[in-house]
Amino acid sequence: MSDCLFCKIINGEIPGEIVYQDDDVLAFRDINPQAPLHVLVIPRKHIPTINDLDSGDAELVGKMYLAAKKIAAEEGVAEAGYRALMNCNAGAGQTVFHIHLHVLGGRSLGWPPG
Ligand code: AMP
Ligand code: ZN
Repeated sequence: MSDCLFCKIINGEIPGEIVYQDDDVLAFRDINPQAPLHVLVIPRKHIPTINDLDSGDAELVGKMYLAAKKIAAEEGVAEAGYRALMNCNAGAGQTVFHIHLHVLGGRSLGWPPG
């Protein structure tokens, strides 16, 4: 998707502070962090929202969570606790329409979120 911000990070057209990548997913630091650790894990495949996932994407979503687990361990928040979630559509606060797992940690995280 030529006009997608996160596809541009994947393609190297705009910079990202990449912390993890493999053949299927990429992870980089959020430009406006909401916690000491705030990384976004994205699939290399352009998928706009959770609603656009199909059964063939099941392994890919699993790989996003495995990347989150690895990053949390490397960043030292795995034991204390962290959150890994996706917003879906505007009502949930989604602003970039290429699915992304927010990985947040390094502080106490309240529940429910706002
Ligand atoms: P969401 O609101 O769930 O769609 O999350 C989009 C996230 O992307 C926000 O937390 C933004 O701060 C983040 N973001 C937007 N542009 C960039 C960028 N160029 N590099 C890194 N993170 C970004
Ligand atoms: Zn995209």
